Amino acid sequence: MDIGGNLRWIKERIAAAEKRSGRPAGAVMLLAVSKTFGAGEVLAAYDAGQRDFGENRVQEWREKAPLLPEDCRWHIIGRLQTNKVKYLDSHVRLIHSLDRFPLLQVLQTAGEKKGLVWPALVEVNIANDEAKAGLPRGEVGDFLAAAADFPAIEIRGLMTIGPFGAPCAEIREVFRSLRRLQGELRARNIPGAAGLAELSMGMSQDFEAAVEEGATIVRVGALLFGERQYYREEA
Ligand SMILES: *Cc1c(COP(=O)(O)O)cnc(C)c1O
Repeated sequence: MDIGGNLRWIKERIAAAEKRSGRPAGAVMLLAVSKTFGAGEVLAAYDAGQRDFGENRVQEWREKAPLLPEDCRWHIIGRLQTNKVKYLDSHVRLIHSLDRFPLLQVLQTAGEKKGLVWPALVEVNIANDEAKAGLPRGEVGDFLAAAADFPAIEIRGLMTIGPFGAPCAEIREVFRSLRRLQGELRARNIPGAAGLAELSMGMSQDFEAAVEEGATIVRVGALLFGERQYYREEA
């Protein structure tokens, strides 16, 4: 597996999609999703210049992060259990999966205790897929308004997961709706919605479409590191 070569190739494809859709070069950040992969593989990507890595299980992240250089920036992309919040620290660059009200108070308490503010994205279940995490789009406005009362949380944008294996047009429509929702929320002047600059959307199967539809962060795992041998949701 040539991780450095894969990284260059993915970046070229992102750059081409930016160009095609008239977006400035460098508008989109590549998040390398390293869940299930070992420190050796992460280090290969690091040596090729990658710094932002995504993990979906806090426990796995806690084991991996100490084996890697200090300047790695870690992103939490999976369902965050309230009893795991206490393990988060200043190495967490962005939480992509803020998906329910109870997390707000828990993050606030942990942030106060550690003197940290958590940058976070609200995960939206655009397709209203019961099997998927995320707030229904109709609840995001209330959620943002509530989050404004928690100064240890700084909401930076929205995140969604495209329907797996769905036809391209359907996936693209999900990305488009997330972008529309971003525009609607900004226009409503909800406290805390002004800075909704980030859109985290697109994975190995659909990152180019996501770039064309306005993503600012794409989350790519398999295409960079190889197929995962196993996939476990956090117990
Ligand atoms: C695993 C995962 C990804 C990356 O998926 P790939 O298909 O490996 O690119 C992106 N986002 C989330 C939330 C994930 O859990």
